[in-house]
Amino acid sequence: MEERTFFQCVIAARDGRRCFYCARNFKPRPMRRKTLDHYIPHRVWPGWEVANLVLACERCNLAKGDALPWPLVWLLLAVFRQDEWELIA
Ligand SMILES: [Zn+2]
Repeated sequence: MEERTFFQCVIAARDGRRCFYCARNFKPRPMRRKTLDHYIPHRVWPGWEVANLVLACERCNLAKGDALPWPLVWLLLAVFRQDEWELIA
């Protein structure tokens, strides 16, 4: 089995056979139209760890590109603000 297909199967078992972003279901076959996306961009978290991989349809993957996911941005801002409060208090 090709490595990419193996990753897709592992992630589909974890998250279901749907796009992580738009929740559109993938048809079981063919495996095309389904892409592997680095949730945290590859340039920030290099490597192919399953913990950082999600299944995405081509449209969502293209739209996201190399950007940081919004939930992660909010989380980072929340942590930053918390540190800021601790410095003030
Ligand atoms: Zn999608």
